[in-house]
Amino acid sequence: MQTPVPDYLTHVLSQCAANSQGALADYIPELAQANSKHLALALSTVDGTIYASGDDTVEFTIQSMSKPFAYALALQELGLNAVLDKVDVEPSGEAFNQISLDPVTKRPKNPMINSGAITTHALIPIQQGEQRAEKLRQFLSRLAGRELCFDLKVYESEIQSAFRNLSIGYMLRTVGVLAQDPLEIVYGYIKQCAILVTVKDLARMSSVLANGGIEPLTGERLLDGAVVRQVLSVMLSCGMYDSAGDWLSSVGIPAKSGVAGGIFGVLPGQVGIAVFSPKIDTHGNSVRGVKIFERLSNDMGLHLMQGTPSAQTILQSRYVLEQYQDVIVYELRGVLQFTESEMLLRRLQNEPAGNSTILLDLTNLTLVHNVGARMLFEGVKRLHADGHTVKVVDSENILSEAQLKGHKREVVNEALEKYLAKFHS
Ligand code: GLU
Repeated sequence: MQTPVPDYLTHVLSQCAANSQGALADYIPELAQANSKHLALALSTVDGTIYASGDDTVEFTIQSMSKPFAYALALQELGLNAVLDKVDVEPSGEAFNQISLDPVTKRPKNPMINSGAITTHALIPIQQGEQRAEKLRQFLSRLAGRELCFDLKVYESEIQSAFRNLSIGYMLRTVGVLAQDPLEIVYGYIKQCAILVTVKDLARMSSVLANGGIEPLTGERLLDGAVVRQVLSVMLSCGMYDSAGDWLSSVGIPAKSGVAGGIFGVLPGQVGIAVFSPKIDTHGNSVRGVKIFERLSNDMGLHLMQGTPSAQTILQSRYVLEQYQDVIVYELRGVLQFTESEMLLRRLQNEPAGNSTILLDLTNLTLVHNVGARMLFEGVKRLHADGHTVKVVDSENILSEAQLKGHKREVVNEALEKYLAKFHS
């Protein structure tokens, strides 16, 4: 059998294909030449499988979708505070190319509008003779898993009509947010926007973010988890130009769009998704791209606010082993986060003080978050204080060494009964 996922993606594309609303971005003359029929969709899982459909080999310029990645690179190299000193994280509610600064902080409101993105571009540290746009191209190539190029025609074309971005650059220089020559920085920023990608590249880049900064195929950590969290938070509140609120309620996935018609979205721990269709709406978002995301989010239950009811399922069973009256087994399953740990500890608190042996069997857990491990061992400590002997059975090594810190992992490779027989003899 073949997985139905590619057929589903093709079906979604065909349903949205007839929509001809929107217009090509023409303030960058070269973008007005785009083929408005192009339509593509790609989805990457966090283990690196990519499904794609439509014009998935067509390259287009990344434009504003470079902004979250430039922000990630600046955060990774300089740390959060140094970046926050220069660019805020508040939604602006204004057009992406508004010539404005926060009236109180005198900083750009966020890194997803042009004033913030130009400032972020300037923050990317370079060696003598290096170019920031080139450094970013190399970084994006690592995320995409292939060598990406600049579209120099689009770059030159935007340079010819960059008056607005140049005004923003000079304003930033005037108030001291930029220390460098605004011309060099704005040209560099425009070049960063002219990196060519396909939807497959974008899906793969998004999957690194979905995977907490680790490249799914190589296992290499490309970004710190804290950097990814910051980038996704800003994408969620500011990523879709001045329609971020609409997007959050109807799609509910951190995303970023660009005026060439691309949109990429990241669902943490699950998928990276990218679409491409060149006609954009008055906010600057691809019209068919938005429709496709709305459809995927609904069909696939991807909205962030639609939590999973995992907490009900943490305790698979609790039983007393007949031949050892004083041995109580708690079999756990699923994911151990705060809610599940709280539920488990509430069950454990019903155990009367005494000298039972309590086995906490983690064999069927799929993931233990740090808070889950901390709460689990706090429970162990308290059961000990009540007089019980407690064993944490972790035959599948679900707990990391850091989570174990000083506690003992019981490994049961044989039947639990046999293990207990040894343990009681
Ligand atoms: N290079 C474009 C600009 O700065 C990017 C705009 C966008 O994609 O939103 O105007």
